[in-house]
Amino acid sequence: MQFSTTSTTQPAPAALREQALHHPRIGTVFTDHMVTIQWTAENGWHDARVRPREPFSLDPASAVLHYGQEIFEGMKAYGQPDGSVALFRPEENARRFNASASRMSMPTIPESVFVDAIEQLLRMDGAWVPKGAGTSLYLRPFMFATESFLGVRPATQFTFCVIASPAGAYFKGGAKPIAVWVSERYTRAARGGTGAAKCGGNYAAGLTAQAEAIRNDCDQVVFLDAAEGRWIEELGGMNVFFVVDGVLVTPSLGTILPGITRDSIIGLAKRRGVRVEEKPYSFDEWREDAATGRLTEAFACGTAAVIAAIGKVRFDGGEFTIPAGPLTDALRDELVGIQRGVVADELNWTWRVK
Ligand SMILES: *Cc1c(COP(=O)(O)O)cnc(C)c1O
Repeated sequence: MQFSTTSTTQPAPAALREQALHHPRIGTVFTDHMVTIQWTAENGWHDARVRPREPFSLDPASAVLHYGQEIFEGMKAYGQPDGSVALFRPEENARRFNASASRMSMPTIPESVFVDAIEQLLRMDGAWVPKGAGTSLYLRPFMFATESFLGVRPATQFTFCVIASPAGAYFKGGAKPIAVWVSERYTRAARGGTGAAKCGGNYAAGLTAQAEAIRNDCDQVVFLDAAEGRWIEELGGMNVFFVVDGVLVTPSLGTILPGITRDSIIGLAKRRGVRVEEKPYSFDEWREDAATGRLTEAFACGTAAVIAAIGKVRFDGGEFTIPAGPLTDALRDELVGIQRGVVADELNWTWRVK
């Protein structure tokens, strides 16, 4: 696919960009450009453009505003020691984007076009990749239904877009252990639902639970399964791992989001000779294992936060704490090292942007 390229005539003032690069706050300041590609049932994908970032003009009847056909991805571009920029397993994001698209009755996009769109934006906005420790350029590819109609059926027009924002550490406390709230009132996903799709609607439905977590002085909410209210699923936007008797345990795929960080951690742990079990793990077991000391570590993971140790677990009627642990730290150091080009990338996970 050929991209037409138009540079902005009004780039952000250098002082504002420098401020954003030195004190990045993910999702607050955006780069100068964006990529858009249009899709129609008639013409498929067409009109690929790298262009100045600007608001969309949307008809009030645009399908996304009424029926929520919207999906997204989250990935990062990392500055490398030699000054180049690298992506981490971008073809996995492309694959997952298409899995989300299929689930939401939206068109899939060739994986090569998805990755090319990101590289095009990085070539244009390369000066926006921050260089400090723990920083990166967060990339947000997304797609939404633009067709103007009211009626329940898949739309026939969509816009694919990529925007970018300099990112620092995800949680206010930096690498400090986080506190999580186990919601026994709200659920995130049910069997046959959209739990495995990265769609905006999942997040909208989770906001009330996240607010409950904040009210209880926690950083994030932990969701339990919808059928029995018993099995741990994941956090609002992160997967979760437990170290029990030295085994790394994580909930099986199905109704959870198949995280690329999750998959990478499973791979790295196995290479270290750590036993990994993807299996149902209940909130009761979590509490019990923490009390008996069989549980030695727990952490949340995702692109935005990488790996965050869970230090405290609160729920209606109680709380317990979990010590910090060596496996969490070792896996974080190795994963971050690969992403930043300071640990050998033996699994070929990094993708140099040309
Ligand atoms: C994006 C996301 C994750 C993490 O996925 P990564 O590919 O590791 O960034 C986990 N859970 C939910 C609900 C998500 O939306």
